[in-house]
Amino acid sequence: MCKMVDHCGGNCFVLYYTTDRNDNCCGKRNERVCDMEILYKSTRGGGAAITASKAVLQGLAEDGGLFVPDAILPLDKTLDEFAAMSYQETAYEVMKLYLTDYTEEELKSCIARAYDSKFDTETIAPLVEAQDAFYLELFHGATIAFKDMALSILPHLMTTAARKNQITNDIVILTATSGDTGKAALAGFADVEGTKIIVFYPKNGVSPIQERQMVTQKGDNTFVVGIRGNFDDAQTGVKQIFSDAALKERLRQAGFQFSSANSINIGRLVPQIVYYVYSYAALLREGKISSGEKINVVVPTGNFGNILAAYYAKNMGLPIAKLICASNENKVLFDFFRSGTYDRNRDFVLTSSPSMDILISSNLERLIYQIAGKDAQVNASLMRQLGETGRYTITDTMKKELESFYGGYASEEETARRIRTLYKDTGYVLDTHTAVASAVYERYRKETGDERKTVIVSTASPFKFTRSVMDAILPGHDNADDFALADALSGIANRAVPAAVAEIRSAPVLHNNVCGKDEMAECVCRFLNV
Ligand SMILES: *Cc1c(COP(=O)(O)O)cnc(C)c1O
Repeated sequence: MCKMVDHCGGNCFVLYYTTDRNDNCCGKRNERVCDMEILYKSTRGGGAAITASKAVLQGLAEDGGLFVPDAILPLDKTLDEFAAMSYQETAYEVMKLYLTDYTEEELKSCIARAYDSKFDTETIAPLVEAQDAFYLELFHGATIAFKDMALSILPHLMTTAARKNQITNDIVILTATSGDTGKAALAGFADVEGTKIIVFYPKNGVSPIQERQMVTQKGDNTFVVGIRGNFDDAQTGVKQIFSDAALKERLRQAGFQFSSANSINIGRLVPQIVYYVYSYAALLREGKISSGEKINVVVPTGNFGNILAAYYAKNMGLPIAKLICASNENKVLFDFFRSGTYDRNRDFVLTSSPSMDILISSNLERLIYQIAGKDAQVNASLMRQLGETGRYTITDTMKKELESFYGGYASEEETARRIRTLYKDTGYVLDTHTAVASAVYERYRKETGDERKTVIVSTASPFKFTRSVMDAILPGHDNADDFALADALSGIANRAVPAAVAEIRSAPVLHNNVCGKDEMAECVCRFLNV
């Protein structure tokens, strides 16, 4: 199907996929754009371009790069049309642009199975207005953190992809988690036929509720391991297993192949674009903004997946002014946006927002590739420097491409204060990650005077990080266990304890594996019996 597109009327950042592949839209009008297959290639230039379903199956490119679509596509429905759509309808309109080798029927079926009664609200991702911002609550899924938004659909995208590509091997999902991905992936993949899932988490680097959620996971195809190391160690270990050719062959002979449920998988990234479009449309529908009015978004950031989806949404034509990237005390991204130098050589800080305790933000590579003018060689060279020296510096030209980003960070003290003051002023309770974003936003407003309508992405329920939240609001609970604290929080927040917390109270521990950070590959072999 072909249609006419007014290039210059849109956003010039949009990289239109045209037959002549000219990405510079200025001066070009009313060009004929055809629905073409979007292919995915590595940010480091290796290998051939592959279909979306193959990229979903493969996870990471063979050269260690990340798969990127060969174009960022413009939204092909108007904002007013989006304002009339349900979450599921929005998901289809956004995802069909990127997952072009899935049929309409396949995609709609994946969406219907993902965004159903597992979510405790029909709107899937509600917006709550509190003080000066709208909080986009992405924690209404099975594991009460935003990872559910993508991980409820990824297993369906993956099993559909396996069918489409005549894969007969069992797919082994290998995941490193800083706490939330692990449980959301386990919940998504448990007992999904033709799959196994192995989750590595830092043994002393997740909250007690996060750990309990994982080690009580049911399902014969699930395997949970604590490693003696931090999240970066877990992530590095998983990347090494992925690039181990001998191991890959051994698995193949036993009828297995690896894939990844980490946020590097494009099957995670694409579903995350949806809620930015959906929340803009919701503000429009409720008369909070006028059509085309630009908003800011604030994203509590760790691996850079969530905010990258916002960047894609902006470049697809969604009216977003600033992308405010909020870090905790592991402020490697804040320093990067300020100086143009990414430097992971620093102490790793354990904070009260553990899902953001990350020094290597994997998804940043996709942004680096984009601002390098999609030059895979430039990106590959920077990533090599990162691997060898732990740092790299981008050019001034690349830095200019980052103008729509604002980097900020919040200390532990500021994060706790933000939870306390917002609760005192409004009764609304933030989790620690969202509080980092809210504190950064407060400072941003003071510093810039920017009064635009703003969406703060709320990435977890306060019940997932109960102790830190209660310490911030009403300290002095040192002797209470986390479940007693959940009851106390329920009282003061005037919200019921979510089912996800209530049900692990008495659930038996089914996994108690611990291994060193250098033993991860052996651990995988043991579980798979190869
Ligand atoms: C994963 C996570 C984040 C960070 O998201 P990224 O996509 O890794 O930047 C923030 N908050 C919570 C609660 C999370 O689980």
